[in-house]
Amino acid sequence: MSDVQYLRSLLKAHPDFPKKGIVFLDIFPILRDPVAFETLITHFVHHITSDVIPRTHSKKIDVVVGLDARGFLLGPIIAMRLGAAFVPVRKQGKLPGECVSATYEKEYGSDSFEMQADAIKPGQNVIIIDDLIATGGSAKAAGELVAKQGGNTLKYLFIIELTFLKGSASLDAPVYSIVQED
Ligand code: 5GP
Repeated sequence: MSDVQYLRSLLKAHPDFPKKGIVFLDIFPILRDPVAFETLITHFVHHITSDVIPRTHSKKIDVVVGLDARGFLLGPIIAMRLGAAFVPVRKQGKLPGECVSATYEKEYGSDSFEMQADAIKPGQNVIIIDDLIATGGSAKAAGELVAKQGGNTLKYLFIIELTFLKGSASLDAPVYSIVQED
């Protein structure tokens, strides 16, 4: 079985969560299995070092940005492996000090994401990570926060991409996803 097949086999679909009609894909079975978690992180790091960095002619990744909340479980480990900084994007009102903010559309109404204003320096190479991309609204807001600080987003990384929602089309850099659901 390939790494991708192995990781995909551990994803668990929960019908009618968090509400009726939604099938929620749970990534936590991967994190509960130490071999699978290691496989997942190594898969991402390999993609970044063997594809993202050479393809963009970059020397290194400076910053890994993780989205609230499951991006916090992946981003710091990948950042440490790459020798990069980790920067969180959080829901409004959670981060101390001066912040930059960006609004994104949710199913009902809108929400805001924030990043600390001194987190990224102009010209730094950034990758953005979360567990899943659906409409792409939250990833797009994270990309806007990076751009506002002069960062250069090289890639968006996800475990799962709901390809039928075409979320990647709204982003300012290419997407890499391990598992595609259509
Ligand atoms: P988007 O902004 O792309 O529409 O939604 C993506 C966000 O919703 C991500 O932060 C992701 O964690 C969360 N999300 C939406 N549906 C699912 C799902 O089925 N499984 C998981 N793990 N996360 C989901």
